[in-house]
Amino acid sequence: MKYVIIIPDGCADEPVQSLGGRTPLEAARLPHIDSLAKAGVVGLSNNVPPKLTPASDVATLSLLGYDPLQVYTGRAPLEAAAMGIPLGPNDWAIRCNLIHVSEGKMTDFTAGHITSEEGGPLVRALQQTLGGPIPESEDHPAGKLEFHPGVSYRNLLVFRGLPGAQPFGSGTKTQPPHDVPDRPLKDHLPSGPGAGLLRSLMEKSKSLFSNHDVNRARRAKGLREATQCWLWGQGVAPSLEPFATKYRKKGAMISAVDLVRGVGCLIGYRRIDVPGTTGYLDTDYAAKGRYAIEALKHHDVVCVHVEAPDEASHEGNAAAKVEALERIDTDIVGPIREALASYGDWRILITPDHRTTLTTRAHAHGPVPFVVSGTGVPGLGQSGYTESVASLSPVCIGSGHQLMGQFLADSFPANLMEP
Ligand SMILES: [Zn+2]
Repeated sequence: MKYVIIIPDGCADEPVQSLGGRTPLEAARLPHIDSLAKAGVVGLSNNVPPKLTPASDVATLSLLGYDPLQVYTGRAPLEAAAMGIPLGPNDWAIRCNLIHVSEGKMTDFTAGHITSEEGGPLVRALQQTLGGPIPESEDHPAGKLEFHPGVSYRNLLVFRGLPGAQPFGSGTKTQPPHDVPDRPLKDHLPSGPGAGLLRSLMEKSKSLFSNHDVNRARRAKGLREATQCWLWGQGVAPSLEPFATKYRKKGAMISAVDLVRGVGCLIGYRRIDVPGTTGYLDTDYAAKGRYAIEALKHHDVVCVHVEAPDEASHEGNAAAKVEALERIDTDIVGPIREALASYGDWRILITPDHRTTLTTRAHAHGPVPFVVSGTGVPGLGQSGYTESVASLSPVCIGSGHQLMGQFLADSFPANLMEP
């Protein structure tokens, strides 16, 4: 049996006025996904336990069959894995966004989708001035700081600590910058152990960046500058049982986003990088489809993650979200469905990781709709893939990490519940 998982990141939403009171899934033309839904099962699954923050880190772990309450340690260590940065037992990874702030508000958590070529020199400036050994203080133990350039606005800080001395802890609170659009920064600064260090690094980045050549050039082009860095998502390296041991299947991951690639790396999926994919609305959808079909030859499970619907939601752009969904249907789901037919036994799972609503432009808790279709999945006679169809489904998975075991089991679903 061949298995394909397609993740339209953040696609689950609520009805919006600009789409005539429909959700993006309802407004989009999705002939391939709808035909899979009609032949299979549309259900609801909840990938984010209430006490964790709804984001792709927690939700992707759930979706791939790992209980985030057991294994989640933070977002940044997952990205460190994708970036090939080893973390020792006393080391913490911290996400270092390049952001644009105006009038004290979080105007843009991507600094105008700054390119990696522009972000690199800014992160190297952080390393040159703020990196290296730091002495002990009341706020944090002694250690060493390393700033690492990543992709676009997504960069990393590593705190290398000494045995037994932890700079941060469960009391350290940091704020995902994408969850506070247009809100005053001062209300969302880090608090708790190590917060003084994080606040001071962010403050110092302002003067470092203000007259940097990269920002001068962006200013001249009328682009948003990276006015400072924003530190959040701290954590130590998680310990994850390999997917091949836990589920007895060999997997491959296709994603343009380090966070999702990192989860793949840590569970032992083969990482497949597709040229022309961007983690944004302009990604090469068809290339992802082609690489997934190629990967099916050598893997039991192929997972294709597409960030675009989530990015469109963060921009509050309903039309772009609909377009992203239609491109996923045409360029990824259609060709993969056709290729799967040649394998005889196959199964496909389509599901977002979490909800990202156009109205709030932020991630949200709550169950997401999924489709499971293919061999051994008797149809439930549902009309298509939408939030409202899923909300009436007899298949509800309260703890999202349990869906993977059922998806890979002989028959699906394991049991039906009253809606
Ligand atoms: Zn998002």
